[in-house]
Amino acid sequence: MNIILLGPPGAGKGTQAQRLMTTRGMVQLSTGDMLRAAVKAGSPVGLQAKAVMDAGQLVSDDIVSALIGERLDQGIGGGAIFDGYPRTAAQAEALDGLLEARDQTLDFVIELEVDEAALIERVEGRYTCARCGTGYHDRFKLPKVPGVCDVCGSTEFKRRPDDNAETVRTRMQEYRAKTAPILPIYQVRGLVHRVDGMADIEHVAQSIDAILAGRG
Ligand code: AMP
Repeated sequence: MNIILLGPPGAGKGTQAQRLMTTRGMVQLSTGDMLRAAVKAGSPVGLQAKAVMDAGQLVSDDIVSALIGERLDQGIGGGAIFDGYPRTAAQAEALDGLLEARDQTLDFVIELEVDEAALIERVEGRYTCARCGTGYHDRFKLPKVPGVCDVCGSTEFKRRPDDNAETVRTRMQEYRAKTAPILPIYQVRGLVHRVDGMADIEHVAQSIDAILAGRG
């Protein structure tokens, strides 16, 4: 089973993708994570992408589709969760080709519907454990012991450089202008299901499970 999680920054795509990996043995394919890894490694792709990402704009379609193709070739176990890809009509078309060439199909497109004003607050306050990646939030989810990760005990945390108010606004605009318009492509194929992304994490998870089980 291969699915796309669609929604603006902060909608909860990453959180739900992580959960589906654990519960279903699926594989998260996050182009954002792949690009951040490339930036950290200082690879040619990373060097090209960094300024664009810092500005909250979209990296070129060819770069991200190539990253997805490479990742698909490494195997996708119980299925792929596309998180943050596709983000443009050209990427949606590229994904069709990438899946077809590998005898794979797309089974569900899940749109996480959210309120933009609340998202800015969500994204601005979020940070992760630098060691294990567990997510926290300045207001909504603090570690139980201040400054210590609940999961691994690390005292090092990190924030994404593009999670500031100004860049978040640009990322939202990019979503509205370039990503939301790809929904009709999948709607005509009957693949789109909508979930209230403002509900708490467990409710969103239940709604997604119901969709994947054909009850949504
Ligand atoms: P994300 O982690 O999905 O929020 O992505 C972080 C940043 O990486 C975005 O703001 C873009 O600059 C870039 N990016 C991630 N995925 C894509 C994509 N599919 N197409 C273009 N740019 C992307």
